[in-house]
Amino acid sequence: MVGATVCAVTEPADINDVPSDIRERHATLSQEIEEHRQRYYFATPTISDAEFDQLMRELEGIEDQYTSLRTPDSPTQKVGAPVAEPGAGVEASWPPVEHLERMLSLDNAFSADDIAEWAARVEREVGTGARYLCEPKVDGLAVDIVYRDGKLATLATRGDGRTGEDITYNAQFVDAIPDELTGTDEYPVPSVVEIRGEAVFPTKEFEAVNAERADLGLPLFANARNSGAGVLRQRMDRRREKLDAAKAKADAAGNEGRAQASYEKVLEEYERAKRNLNRMILVCHGIGRRDGFDIRFQSEAYEALRAWGLPASDRPRVVPDLEAVQEYIDHYGQHRHDIEFEIDGVVVKVDQVDLQRQLGSTSRAPRWAVAFKYPPEEVTTKLIDIRVNVGRTGRVTPYGVMEPVKVAGSTVENATLHNASEVKRKGVLIGDTVVLRKAGDVIPEILGPVAELRDGSEREFVMPTECPACGTPLAPAKEGDVDIRCPNSRSCPSQLRERLFYLAGRSGFDIEAMGWEAGIALINAGVVADEGDVFGLDADRLKQVPLFTNADGELTVNGRRLLDNLEKAKQQPLWRVLVSLSIRHVGPTAARALAGALRSMDAIVDASEEQLAGTDGVGPTIAASVKEWFAVDWHQEIVRKWREAGVRMVDEVDESMPRTLEGLTVVVTGSLQGFSRDDAKEAILARGGKASGSVSKKTSFVVVGENAGSKHDKAIELKVPVLDEDGFRVLLESGPDEAAKVAQVGEAEE
Ligand SMILES: [Zn+2]
Repeated sequence: MVGATVCAVTEPADINDVPSDIRERHATLSQEIEEHRQRYYFATPTISDAEFDQLMRELEGIEDQYTSLRTPDSPTQKVGAPVAEPGAGVEASWPPVEHLERMLSLDNAFSADDIAEWAARVEREVGTGARYLCEPKVDGLAVDIVYRDGKLATLATRGDGRTGEDITYNAQFVDAIPDELTGTDEYPVPSVVEIRGEAVFPTKEFEAVNAERADLGLPLFANARNSGAGVLRQRMDRRREKLDAAKAKADAAGNEGRAQASYEKVLEEYERAKRNLNRMILVCHGIGRRDGFDIRFQSEAYEALRAWGLPASDRPRVVPDLEAVQEYIDHYGQHRHDIEFEIDGVVVKVDQVDLQRQLGSTSRAPRWAVAFKYPPEEVTTKLIDIRVNVGRTGRVTPYGVMEPVKVAGSTVENATLHNASEVKRKGVLIGDTVVLRKAGDVIPEILGPVAELRDGSEREFVMPTECPACGTPLAPAKEGDVDIRCPNSRSCPSQLRERLFYLAGRSGFDIEAMGWEAGIALINAGVVADEGDVFGLDADRLKQVPLFTNADGELTVNGRRLLDNLEKAKQQPLWRVLVSLSIRHVGPTAARALAGALRSMDAIVDASEEQLAGTDGVGPTIAASVKEWFAVDWHQEIVRKWREAGVRMVDEVDESMPRTLEGLTVVVTGSLQGFSRDDAKEAILARGGKASGSVSKKTSFVVVGENAGSKHDKAIELKVPVLDEDGFRVLLESGPDEAAKVAQVGEAEE
């Protein structure tokens, strides 16, 4: 089949006008694309979708210039997957079924310019009257469903666009695909209708599938789309036959022994397959053949689909112009992961069906629609090495070093691999081509290797036995721990660097001039042996650090800024001092609880473990960790040095501040104009109130800023008084009684 493609494009007579190097490139590209297409549908893809799109665009570019190369056999003229030949794939295919109307694919757009170009073509053809229907592009398996007289007749994959696989048998296991259509007065059940949609695992269900596979020790699925396609296309009829045969054998054996055990195993697999099928949802987005009715607008099709009881999204919008199209695209670009399933772009269609007909289609794609694709979130790249990082608490974490690659709009070259068993579980070898995923703001993740591309030179990762930063032998903190640690916590340069970075961070002392580079420079110059030395830094000491001195040996601007920052940091409230100590489990929340209840470093040091554990918001784990930390000599020394340098160790109770919120619990949610989150909390604490993160019946007030979410809903549901920012000011200035007068309380049901 691949060879045929290459031959076909060299046949036409005027092909001789095409330079031979172009012809050769066209031929190799065509072959490559065809191979990838086969792999995509029948095996593990070896390149990402984005890379595939790039190859396709190059091929299209060549054909735009040399149109004689655009023969019917060119990959640019084909849609989607070829129907599997028996034996071609992982599981034998279903019989073919012809679609009533051809399923076209969509041309892709990757930029605002591409969209504008498409719209300009639309305007040239039909004038300026077109309205645009926008909808998120579901990253699923395209299906074609035919209903005759309201009854499900066939369920098919897209296949090559004309002929798909007849997977009707599997429809019985997917509740999202109705057996029968309903009708309304406006949209009665049509005699024949062909529905187009996408079948997909919602993200949550996909995670559930993988969790189950992990429990069973099965390899994890890399993504929802490919695994969904595999699940929907599996031969459930053969599984059923296998099950019946196993059952018969077990019955014959008196339902015991090996035959029974084997039957139970087959049954379990069958049930799991059924369960996974029913985890899929369907999102309908179009109508192919329609008999006995017509629609005037694409948007009307969605109403019809819903009237017939088919799942159609309520996200499509009809917008008047390109600007609004771009807004829609930007919106879902930002909220891509708020949708319950994976999307990879936005489809833009001309809404008026008469204009759609006027515009028509190319051999491959309609001219009245275009698919805007978001930057890819999954790419492949080379895993050059696996190294380890030693963290703030000494934990040793392997991470992958990759050939830099662009994913979701940023360039990535490192990704954490968490621990040695995670490296094993993912099955990645150094030298592998790996699939890398980065979704939105989430940290990049190595999903797994593309094992087909191995050439034998790959090697396994071996966890080092000594700390790469200080040479100390590594060991688990206690027997049976998954993680191994560097026990040299005081002076291991790697751990100290991480602690300095954390101490200077936003929830610590907030020392802006002490970033990553600065921390390393301070350690390397020997002026900071541990964090106890930080507040002892003065101009003379800083002058020993090359990073902070200029050619004349004077302090740089940054050096002076650091001293200034340190002076201010000494006045930070007690909870920030506690956070900066890097005590295990003591983050901002626990630190606030400790500081709020005990109010001084001395009181915290002197408190018994029981006292600490009894503090609201602390508990036994944190209490034990605090006691353990303060028992170490060099830790006590840090506190002593900081105290000596003038770091605040007591939270003054501001006597001038009336304790109007004593005994009240206030939750702040959303963003306020006049207060940062910390300011708001501090204002509540200063008045003797408690600032909590979660709403319950015991909550006194919920303060709601902009973009407040579920906490606001919960407050209304529980009838907790809700204050806006002005109401919050009333609460702070005049107390709870006045605030209650301006608060809103949720209405009772009905
Ligand atoms: Zn170390």
